[in-house]
Amino acid sequence: MKSPDGMISIVVPAYNEEENLPVLVHRLMAVMEPYPSFELLIVDDGSSDQTRYVLRQLSKEYPVVRFISFSKNFGHQMALRAGYENARGKAVICLDADLQHPPELIPTLIQKWCEGYDVVYTVRQPDPNLSWFKRNSSKYFYTLLRNISGLTIEDGAADFRLLDRKVVDTLNQFKENDLFLRGAISWVGFRQCRILYEPAARYAGRSKYSLRKMMHLAAMGITSFSTKPLYLSVLLGFGMFLFATLFGAEVLYEKYFTNTTVSGWTSLILLMVLIGGVQFIIIGIIGIYLGKTFVEVKQRPAYIIGDTSEIEETETTWQSSATDKEQFYLPLT
Ligand code: UDP
Ligand code: MG
Repeated sequence: MKSPDGMISIVVPAYNEEENLPVLVHRLMAVMEPYPSFELLIVDDGSSDQTRYVLRQLSKEYPVVRFISFSKNFGHQMALRAGYENARGKAVICLDADLQHPPELIPTLIQKWCEGYDVVYTVRQPDPNLSWFKRNSSKYFYTLLRNISGLTIEDGAADFRLLDRKVVDTLNQFKENDLFLRGAISWVGFRQCRILYEPAARYAGRSKYSLRKMMHLAAMGITSFSTKPLYLSVLLGFGMFLFATLFGAEVLYEKYFTNTTVSGWTSLILLMVLIGGVQFIIIGIIGIYLGKTFVEVKQRPAYIIGDTSEIEETETTWQSSATDKEQFYLPLT
């Protein structure tokens, strides 16, 4: 059994959460009091409100509070990733800044870790406060993802989880830019344990997950872990070929064996629309994968840190997340 004496890191991604952070830190401090060593690492995802200022005050007030501030909004997944890459604990717990993930569940997560689990993830119970759209979109998305990628992610799986140091180190080795963490964590294996929780209502502010961000997450989830959608084009191609053969046979039969007048216009338009539609879908799918390759090939840093609690207020130091920096030499001509 692992001892909980090792340092525990709590990672919180925050985007425009100035009102929630003081309350969250207060509640986390109360929950973590029995543990001898812990740190709170808050990742400010390029907030445009007073989040950064609030974080500096909090880090002055509580020495256990550290923060990282992105130079702009890189998204929730990148904030989590920066948290994993910069956390120092033997176990890392992630939770949202809006208090929807109850901090009071943390001792249960730690208990499971002590029992020997490497990944303790949470699944939210159906929440009547959640909008119809959010509940159903998440359900259908996970069903689709399971079928396409073969990953075993449960409905309502949240980014509220504890990871052992060895899992965090494994994730940190992933070099891909567009990392879908929920999928990656399911994919790496290790001893996993599941805990149900009841989500609370958002404490203050509005959801930062716009429809656009949700769609991006969904597309990233599917295309990060499967190339199956590419086979879809082949399947559709075969379907179209079969259809065209049958239709062609029918057309030829009508032309040579029956003397009906050709009512070509409708079928022609229908066919054009059908083929055009299928082609657009296929090009779109290929385009998404090609786009991903394009982004990965460039090997840009996944996020850029503009400020941290370790940097003095007056200094302006910029640090990129790239670990292996390459040097490029231009040939002298
Ligand atoms: N978040 C982030 N970057 C973003 C969007 C959200 O770091 O671009 C954070 C946000 O501050 C919160 C967590 O991710 O701590 C979950 O976001 P939110 O509560 O808005 O999502 P919802 O609960 O509505 O799905
Ligand atoms: Mg929320």
